[in-house]
Amino acid sequence: MTENVLEPALYIVPTPIGNMQDITDRAINVLKHADVICAEDTRHSMPLLTQIGVTLQKSKLISFHDHNETEKAEKISEIIESGKSVAIISDAGTPLISDPGYHLVATCAQKNIKVVPLPGACAAITALCASGFPTDRFLFVGFLPVKQEALHKKLLSLEKETGTMIFYEAPRRIIASMSAIAEVFNDREVVVARELTKTFETFYRAKACDMVEVLKNDPNYEKGEMVIILSPYREPEEKSVPDEALKLLKLLLAELPTKNAAQITAEYFGLKKNDLYKLALSIQDK
Ligand code: SAM
Repeated sequence: MTENVLEPALYIVPTPIGNMQDITDRAINVLKHADVICAEDTRHSMPLLTQIGVTLQKSKLISFHDHNETEKAEKISEIIESGKSVAIISDAGTPLISDPGYHLVATCAQKNIKVVPLPGACAAITALCASGFPTDRFLFVGFLPVKQEALHKKLLSLEKETGTMIFYEAPRRIIASMSAIAEVFNDREVVVARELTKTFETFYRAKACDMVEVLKNDPNYEKGEMVIILSPYREPEEKSVPDEALKLLKLLLAELPTKNAAQITAEYFGLKKNDLYKLALSIQDK
């Protein structure tokens, strides 16, 4: 593709998340010909830009990150209004996805400035596609809160999410986050995707309650970046519980806290506590 002059617009340009071959010809072309490139970390982006043949005059590269985004959005939109083409890239993957860019795009949209999104690498979608979980409905959650209370609250709010959930996580936080996920989601299926598109790409597949152990069994589990994919909530079917158990559960629910009612019914009929708990929640919602 040879296109030497770009029309004035904001170009959203994804870059690889590990494998350098995952950049499109179109992305390279835009980066080569854009008047200005906004990069999250200019030093970080330099090797990639040099590798793909982008000539770097100093004036072409602008730093653009979380801390100066709002302030720079106005200035950058004015550059486009003056007739220039501006490309935005982040350190890796698709800008705006747990990366800066939202304020800039919002400013451009508000000012009727053309925004041209290029498709490309994104860890969330790459991991989702390999998870084996439903892809017809999904929720990108991004990074989970670090503080214990906020983390727990966030996870509880997702307990009955009916779409597959996608979380980003840093290696040093994976055990803390997975432990919290296990507490709330217990035997729900989870996939941890590590080092996507790289040589040591690894998928760990387990129930939430077993994932910490599965990870710790791999001496390399803390190396590289990772995405957590959590399977969706499914309504337990009343049919799968014997009529007598359902009757007892309903009676107990009128008198006891949900957890206790589910536990007693499960023990009495030799059923799974978690199934009864989910069923109790769904009965209460009706
Ligand atoms: N904008 C990027 C994208 O499109 O995926 C995400 C940027 S966010 C700051 C970085 C997080 O993305 C990492 O902490 C990790 O959760 C995830 N990530 C990025 N590259 C990855 C990779 N190669 N393998 C697994 N996860 C990755």
